Amino acid sequence: MSATATLDDWKSRAASLSIRGQAFIGGKSEASETGKTFDCVSPIDGKVIAKVAACEAPDVEKAVRAARAAFESGVWSNMAPAKRKRVLLKFADLILKNRDELALLETLDVGKPIRFSTVVDIPGAAAAIAWYAEAIDKLYDEIAPTDPSAIAMIMREPVGVVAAVVPWNFPLLMASWKIGPVLAAGNSLILKPAEQSPLTALRVAELAAEAGIPEGVFNVVPGFGETAGQALGRHMDVDCVTFTGSTEVGKLFLKYAGESNMKRVSLECGGKSPNIVLADAPNLDAAAKAAAFGIFFNQGEVCNAGSRLLVQESIKDEFLEKVMAVGKRMQPGNPLDPATMMGAMVDRTQTERVMGYIEAGRKAGAELKMGGKQANTESGGFYVEPTVFDKVDNGMKIAQEEIFGPVLSTITFKDAADAIRIGNDTIYGLAAAVWTRDITTAHKVARALKAGLVWVNAYDAGDITIPFGGYKQSGFGRDRSLHALEKYTQLKTTWINIG
Ligand code: NAP
Ligand code: MG
Repeated sequence: MSATATLDDWKSRAASLSIRGQAFIGGKSEASETGKTFDCVSPIDGKVIAKVAACEAPDVEKAVRAARAAFESGVWSNMAPAKRKRVLLKFADLILKNRDELALLETLDVGKPIRFSTVVDIPGAAAAIAWYAEAIDKLYDEIAPTDPSAIAMIMREPVGVVAAVVPWNFPLLMASWKIGPVLAAGNSLILKPAEQSPLTALRVAELAAEAGIPEGVFNVVPGFGETAGQALGRHMDVDCVTFTGSTEVGKLFLKYAGESNMKRVSLECGGKSPNIVLADAPNLDAAAKAAAFGIFFNQGEVCNAGSRLLVQESIKDEFLEKVMAVGKRMQPGNPLDPATMMGAMVDRTQTERVMGYIEAGRKAGAELKMGGKQANTESGGFYVEPTVFDKVDNGMKIAQEEIFGPVLSTITFKDAADAIRIGNDTIYGLAAAVWTRDITTAHKVARALKAGLVWVNAYDAGDITIPFGGYKQSGFGRDRSLHALEKYTQLKTTWINIG
């Protein structure tokens, strides 16, 4: 339906949607052990759309047992990779077949525009899972170049029980970057979605079962970070935690691991990415459009958002006008309206956080050039205008801290060396971009930027084939690409004496 659907079509589809709120453990939908639930609120209008199982330690215990039993049985971990491939391809296919329902769940749950959930989030998730499915029966292990009196086989084996703890900004997409490689490698998975966004995770658990993923291999425990998330982080029988979320919570997972079983931890955390525009950028209109999308897409709730716009002094005024012209056309609207480019913030808390940063920017003396207010408050939902600050000093709070909202901080620089210095001057290192027509400058700046992903004459481009993850306090370990498999496998060497 999505190609021609109208706001009314999506509204009526939403009204007839049946939403699942139970946990998915050991192949079954279940209430939480305590019977507790929490309200799932739609930020579109502030209304409760589902009651969701509030899983805690006893549910995590059950999920870990189910995951462990499945893993040790070999039903999935010892299945031929070509067979796992077929099951995972079917899973990806079912996600695509249910695209409209899943996109609608995502939009209702977190307020992102339906035009993007239908073409970015859901197909992107299916593509990620399919990509790892396709890869897994094409990877070979190694024989070491030892003395001929031995044969040393170096093999990759799955790590076992993997817990994936994920954020709310791209709920299914971020999860799929973990589901794909974790399951393709033969592990059992326990997924903990963010409390703000449990709905698609719970629905795809059913699709996984329908695709033929054996019971216990894919479990979903919705609940709060402090209870369900912490229980996973501290569990003695979880072998690996793969986390995407804030730097603050990422550090907690390191602590949990150190205080429990030394499980391996990989962290995809926050960012404050610099988008550097030099005066010789090849196309200022294209650069301005990319800069605006780099901060306003997904309401700015993007870990690699280009939240610091670094512009060379001589073109700053002209360039900022162009960015704002694009931004003005992205005023927040009803996420179910296919025309809407910017939707609702995920919840009230996040909205207040963003408004607090806007206030901090004003107080620090940055110049508010556009936006700065909440919008559409009569809807009962949570919306913030696309907001642009000029005359920001890189030392200000709005230049140093991750806002995770549609707030752009503009900073000027003199030359490339100055841009590199400012660009690297935060605790983060997730992504960065440089716009220039000079190939030498492009390479020099890209090489000097401390970030896991650097774009030249682009922003937020890429796909499943390239690694994604950060330097410094943006974390370590990489999602996407074949490198992600390193996180979910361990090396075993078997030395065979044939002397
Ligand atoms: P968050 O608060 O760190 O939460 C992430 C996950 O951790 C959620 O499932 C959360 O559960 C859980 N959690 C929270 N407190 C916990 C605790 N004490 N112990 C164990 N688990 C806990 O992040 P968020 O607010 O959902 O998402 C925004 C952040 O994610 C931003 O910093 C953003 O940059 C980052 N992010 C990074 C990437 C990347 O790939 N680098 C991608 C997307 C987002 P609750 O829901 O209960 O809090
Ligand atoms: Mg949170």
